[in-house]
Amino acid sequence: MQAVVYNGPRDIQVQQIDDPRIERATDALVRITTTNICGSDLHMYEGRTDFEPGRTFGHENLGQVVEVGDAVERLKPGDWVCLPFNIACGHCVNCERGLTNYCLVAQPAQNMAGAAYGFADMGPYPGGQAEYLRVPWADFNALHLPEDAEAKQDDYVMVADIFPTGWHATEMAGLEAGETIVIYGGGPVGLMAAYSATIKGACKVMVVDRHPDRLRLAESIGAVAIDDSKESPVDRVLEETNGLGAHRGCECVGYQAHDPQGHEHPNATLNNLVKSVRFTGGIGVVGVFVPEDPGSPDQFEKEGKVVFDFGMFWFKGQKMGTGQCPVKRYNRHLRNLIYSGRAEPSFIVSHRLGLQDAPDAYEHFDRRDDGWTKVVLKPGQNGGSAGH
Ligand SMILES: [Zn+2]
Ligand SMILES: [Zn+2]
Repeated sequence: MQAVVYNGPRDIQVQQIDDPRIERATDALVRITTTNICGSDLHMYEGRTDFEPGRTFGHENLGQVVEVGDAVERLKPGDWVCLPFNIACGHCVNCERGLTNYCLVAQPAQNMAGAAYGFADMGPYPGGQAEYLRVPWADFNALHLPEDAEAKQDDYVMVADIFPTGWHATEMAGLEAGETIVIYGGGPVGLMAAYSATIKGACKVMVVDRHPDRLRLAESIGAVAIDDSKESPVDRVLEETNGLGAHRGCECVGYQAHDPQGHEHPNATLNNLVKSVRFTGGIGVVGVFVPEDPGSPDQFEKEGKVVFDFGMFWFKGQKMGTGQCPVKRYNRHLRNLIYSGRAEPSFIVSHRLGLQDAPDAYEHFDRRDDGWTKVVLKPGQNGGSAGH
């Protein structure tokens, strides 16, 4: 089959690799019809992780079941499914508590937890930017999609990661209806956090970014767009909230946060959040931070350390939640919001391309080229298929 293979920093190719097959009785094989490029793929693409050359990207996957192992009961060939980016066993001590983001069985390494498709340090699993994907513990992991799945793939695929991740950011921040919230980062996850906040009834949603295409999308869902290359985002949030600061804040940028001149400051968004969020407010951090980042220009960040304004954070009595999203906690409900027409997260999609266009798309998305807000890849279309 054809797959997007990582060969080294900023070097990916669509290559012919072996088809996946059923390896265990609990596996399913899915023919991938829609798979996204994610901002978190870019950390790996840029060589800022220890993602191994030869592996395949892709953790936001949707498709149709083509084969199931003997122990699979809930799925059959032909079913449309969306796969949470977390791979979870369903029966370890963390999975039993609903913490599928920290499964202890799917992650084979000692003293580690959590697994994902095509992701650095998240187990050996290939990604879904390919024609087929092997889904372990398929009964537990696959989310069934309703009869409009094929037509609404670009909405449902967002339930694999960014819609639940954005929702989770607002949950960790503690958002309640009628409150104000500021989202740092207007990329796909930040926009999904803003969208989630709107659905949950926030009275004011503010999105901080500097890319005009992203700010336009934020405005399109009723958020206040704040361009941090033109004004201080902290001052603006205070102005928008009678000087008190927002009730809630979300970090949707991660460790490669940079200023408008392009210099990286891994602490920039976190410290702006401490300043932008009011006393006793909550902060949800879903932007990716890593235990070490040898490629960072920042001497502390090389060892995963962030110069965080803990004194003010403590003084203000703020709370913070961190980490990856347990997608299964939310994905059924978010699927239902899409099915009922209450949510249409595909509003962020700018490009629908074949698998063979992936190298070019990564380049554009990595440069944050104007208009490249979210890329969905369609394996099997436009010559992406091995057997077309
Ligand atoms: Zn993602
Ligand atoms: Zn588990």
